[in-house]
Parts: sequence; structure tokens; C-alpha cells
Amino acid sequence: MKFGIDIGHNSPPDTGARGIKIEDVLTLDVGNRVMSKLRALGHEVIPCKPDRSSSVTNSLFQRINTANTNRVEVFVSIHFNAFNGQANGTEVFAASDTGRRIAQPVLNEIVRLGFFNRGVKSGSHLYVLRNTNMPAILVECCFIDSPRDMNIFESEATANAIVKGLTGTVPSAPVNPVPDEELNTDTTVIRLQKALNRLKITDRNGRALVEDNITGPATNSATVNFQNIAGIQPTGVADTNTWNAINLILAKRIIRPNHAGGPVVRYIQYRVGVDVDGVYGPQTGEAIKRYQRQNGLLADGIVGGMTWQKLIG
Ligand SMILES: [Zn+2]
Repeated sequence: MKFGIDIGHNSPPDTGARGIKIEDVLTLDVGNRVMSKLRALGHEVIPCKPDRSSSVTNSLFQRINTANTNRVEVFVSIHFNAFNGQANGTEVFAASDTGRRIAQPVLNEIVRLGFFNRGVKSGSHLYVLRNTNMPAILVECCFIDSPRDMNIFESEATANAIVKGLTGTVPSAPVNPVPDEELNTDTTVIRLQKALNRLKITDRNGRALVEDNITGPATNSATVNFQNIAGIQPTGVADTNTWNAINLILAKRIIRPNHAGGPVVRYIQYRVGVDVDGVYGPQTGEAIKRYQRQNGLLADGIVGGMTWQKLIG
């Protein structure tokens, strides 16, 4: 098997989170062990972390570009989480059914070490999962700002768990992600109007939509406004890409620096008043913190439950 191993961050200005320990240090330690263990088992490994990068966008691009041009069979991005000191446990993100089938045993093996099981989660908001051509997972091994997790974390055991999860028997039963708005299949006009109002997207006259379940110039122009923000072709018709973007925003994923990309980040950038480019870099971080301060929230730059509540209710 040909693995692309992406050691998270470690490519300034793309640097990881800091807590009790430093994400860059732990991802490098675990990632290097994973690569040598996979090679020892006879697998081919393509390291995907760039040595240097000109920006966070460039760092993320180089990672997926290395994986895509080398045609790796499975892409594995290794990260550590950080949130509020209390959140703890392991979660693995994937953006396809094949990815989810790879993610589940990796999650199971890490959880066996004693970490709380946060589940396999939908990772369509993550740049490296959105832009790789092959099945891909992003492992959030545990929380570097959790005393509980840092107490039991150990690099060698974590690397062994990841390698066992990747190379062991893959369960044949499909693994379903936790259902939420991302999987909502309701594409009626009334839901579109309610969603655009909730997202505070107005029509061409700057007005909120009348929720009447009737398509007209107002709904069409508000849809165009949303599509421009989300980076989707502005047709005015709510197609699959439009609904995917709306549902992903309504799913209120936790958005942290240097991980996320695509429509969700573009929407947040629009709301906090910073250039819309779809990548969470330093300027976006400052704008989010400013928004959080203005709304009486903890200004940590992490768009979690409280910040999402302020943004879209
Ligand atoms: Zn990270």
C-alpha cells in the first residue's frame, strides 16, 4: 500500500495549536513514528508535509499536491486538537464512505488506549480532505490542552494504534457518521428561504426573504449572493453544490486556525468582515477574535458552539 502521511503544521507560518503541550512537537513525533513503522511493514510512504511554505494556503496546497501527484492510495493527516481545556478524546475526520471505513479502525485503536471516543466525523470542511483525490482521513489524536488526555498520551502507543488501524482488517459494514444538518436532504424552496434568512443572506435590495415557499427574483438574488460568498457558480438556482455548502454551514463544525477550508470558512470570513479566500489564516483569526470580543465571547479564534450560536443561532 502507498500511504501519504501528512504531519500536521510544522511549516511556518502554518503552525499548530498550543496547550499543555505543543501540537507541532507531538504531530512530528507521532508522524515520524507512523512513517517508519509503515515502512518496516513493507508499505511505501510519501511524506506530505512541506519543509517550508509561503502561507497557510500554500502549506495546505503543497500537502495535497504531493499526495495527488504521487498518487498515494490513502492520505493520512495527523493532528492534535485544542479547545477549552475540558474537551477531550479522539476524533477522526473523513469526507467519503471509503474514508470513513479507513477512519473507523484508526479511531477504535486510539480509543483503546483510554481516550474518549468522539466518533468518526464528517470532514468536508477540512482543506486536505476536500482537495485530495484519494480516500483521506484526518486524525485528531487527542487534546493538547486537556490535562486528562495529556496525562495518558504517549507517542509510541499512539503511532502503533494508527498503524494498526491503517493496516489491520478493514470492517466491511458501512460506517455511518453521526447524523446532523450536513446530511439533511430537504431541498424545498421554503427550507432554502429559511436557511438564507438564518445565514443573514439578503436579496438584491438588502432585505430578508419572505418565507413563502415560492421561487422569485428575491430568492434567486439572495441565492446568488450566497453562491458568491461560498465560491460557487452564481446561477441563482440552489443546486447540489449550493445545498452542500448551506448544510455544511448549518452543521456548525468547530472551525480552528490552519485546518479548515472552503465554503464554511468563506462564510465566516464574510460574516466577520475579512477578505473571502476560504482559508483560515492569521488575518481571519484576528477578525474572528474581534467578532468574538464584540459579542462578549471568549476571543480564542475558535468558531465553536457559542460563536456559531451568535453567527447563525
Ligand atoms: Zn492541527
